[in-house]
Amino acid sequence: MRRAIFPGSFDPLTLGHSDIIQRGITLFDEIIIAIGVNADKKYMFSLEERMKFIVTAFKDEPKIKVLTYEGLTVDFCKKVDADFILRGLRNPGDFEFEKAIAHTNRKLSEIETVFLLTSSGKSYISSSIVRDVIRNGGDYTSLVPDTVRIS
Ligand code: ADP
Repeated sequence: MRRAIFPGSFDPLTLGHSDIIQRGITLFDEIIIAIGVNADKKYMFSLEERMKFIVTAFKDEPKIKVLTYEGLTVDFCKKVDADFILRGLRNPGDFEFEKAIAHTNRKLSEIETVFLLTSSGKSYISSSIVRDVIRNGGDYTSLVPDTVRIS
């Protein structure tokens, strides 16, 4: 079974993330969306909210699972028996950052990182831009799946 994890903060899930996940489904038998928990990081949405947005967005997709993890991503891969890490690339900044992480992960383990290029029209979407729009009272709904709504 070709199992990949798609790690991230998902604070919150965006149409950029869901595009990578939908396209990743065609490459893998199972994708575990792995929500990273970092005690030092301040999030806009609680872990429960971030989890709910993702679980409801993919409730009809049996190949998608959602879990949380702490610590090294490669250790989590071993724990869940995943051989691949799926990541998205938006721009040269992402490439440089991801390259260093992928090389490090390769040094620490046998796990391969598979990159999908952002879809045209989605490259500008990021969770931090969505958070900014929300903070300033703008209409964020065209940037996120329908399941991401502030109550
Ligand atoms: P992190 O906290 O690790 O940056 P994010 O939740 O921001 O995690 O993103 C998780 C993954 O989704 C990363 O690989 C990131 O490059 C990818 N991603 C985010 N937005 C987009 C987008 N608009 N197009 C393609 N990939 C994206």
